[in-house]
Amino acid sequence: MIKIKEQVIESITLAAKSVYPDEFISMLGRNKENEITELVIFPAVYGKNFSSIRTDLIPFDKSIVGTIHSHPSNNNNPSQGDLKVFSALGEIHLIICWPFNLDNLKGFDRKGKETEIEVVR
Ligand SMILES: [Zn+2]
Repeated sequence: MIKIKEQVIESITLAAKSVYPDEFISMLGRNKENEITELVIFPAVYGKNFSSIRTDLIPFDKSIVGTIHSHPSNNNNPSQGDLKVFSALGEIHLIICWPFNLDNLKGFDRKGKETEIEVVR
């Protein structure tokens, strides 16, 4: 189960829509209750495709729990390249696909196994 603040979902859907047809990529930050409370944007990955992220260049902080990226298609399952990044960059990973609403958001663990999402206020 992934707990995520409603306002973070709103930021994700807005960002994904605004960069479309490019991919939106961000890290996810959490609070002490293990809820995802913020997006942690890395300038180093701007304009790149998610699977091309240089994971060695990303400073890893304890409050960072995983990643979110968007797919410009209507497929929100991880690609082979996505799975490589998942295993290197945290425990929780989200993918949102077109048309970028809550219904198009899926959560995964580091192995790419689908995990339920709970929206919290
Ligand atoms: Zn992807």
